[in-house]
Amino acid sequence: MKKSGLFALLISFMLVLAACGSGETGGSGGSEDGGLIGVAMPTKSSQRWVDDGNNMVKQLEELGYKTDLQYAEDDVDKQIEQIENMIVKGAEILVVASIDGTALTNVLEKAADQDIQVISYDRLIMGTPNVSYYATFDNFQVGVLQATYIEEALKLKEEAGPFNIELFAGSPDDNNANFFWDGAMSVLQPYIDSGKLVVQSEQTKFEQGATMRWDGNVAKSRMENILSKAYSDGETVDAVLSPYDGISRGVIQALKGVGYGSGDLPLPVITGQDAETASIKSMIAGEQTQTVFKDTRDLAAVVVNMIKAIQNGEDAEVNDEETYDNGEKVVPSYLVEPVSVDINNYEEVLIDSEYYSEDDLK
Ligand code: BGC
Repeated sequence: MKKSGLFALLISFMLVLAACGSGETGGSGGSEDGGLIGVAMPTKSSQRWVDDGNNMVKQLEELGYKTDLQYAEDDVDKQIEQIENMIVKGAEILVVASIDGTALTNVLEKAADQDIQVISYDRLIMGTPNVSYYATFDNFQVGVLQATYIEEALKLKEEAGPFNIELFAGSPDDNNANFFWDGAMSVLQPYIDSGKLVVQSEQTKFEQGATMRWDGNVAKSRMENILSKAYSDGETVDAVLSPYDGISRGVIQALKGVGYGSGDLPLPVITGQDAETASIKSMIAGEQTQTVFKDTRDLAAVVVNMIKAIQNGEDAEVNDEETYDNGEKVVPSYLVEPVSVDINNYEEVLIDSEYYSEDDLK
């Protein structure tokens, strides 16, 4: 078993011990009678959120909690309604991965009126004081990993270039998207400024690269436009910064549509995030080049730890108390480390750790 799996196991084990040893059950929230935990997830259309939801439920149920897991299919009003229902059903704690991080202020005020604490899951909930903790990955580092991969794959330190790159960003209503972008640009911007990297589309700003709701089809259309407008004169794309696997696959479709990946026109270096099975299969087929693996088992373990601490009236373990300001407060956060994955290490990182089986990737 790899370190990440072992970490999840250790945390679960410690939580079981803590639960057994605790005489203080915090009302109905103890391990035996198990309080209700509401888990609001954004969408089932992306595999990672399905994994997140499953891991949360598994780990919570192992400790005797009841769970109410809901997916909102990227519909903001639906998510608000689901959270309202969780409050009505008597949830003791809410775990929320928001769709639009700025849209939950009112509903979370209702939660606060009922003394229900909220944990912001993976995405920071903005503009409200009513969020107790934030559990996420090191989002800036995700961008650094993607951009460093491009830097190394194109040998930007050694080669004279210039190389052509196109830049994609995530959803503008998701605070994470800014962190991914800033992390990536901390590596890429100096090369763009010096002219070693050229953005032929001239779309170099976050707003220009943003992909509403992380939609792969939106990214595909944007890439098609860029290819027809900025690459019809014989220039070819050498790299694409993509913040998420679904976007990467949309971009690859656009590229293949104009002949990349066949004849003497290789696909560019293309990054991603979440290690979705479709993207690992694409990698095995020689298409997507890189992704960033975020072990949702570890994230769920961190959140379960926070839930226990809240119910025991203790402070939860955090490792970052300065980065994540939601406009109302700096939310105490626990950041898990993301891991860069490519064709050379996917077996070790994903299969040896039992995140996926070999069959999942066939
Ligand atoms: C998550 C990423 C994910 C993206 C699209 C972000 O908030 O942190 O892991 O790729 O949303 O679902």
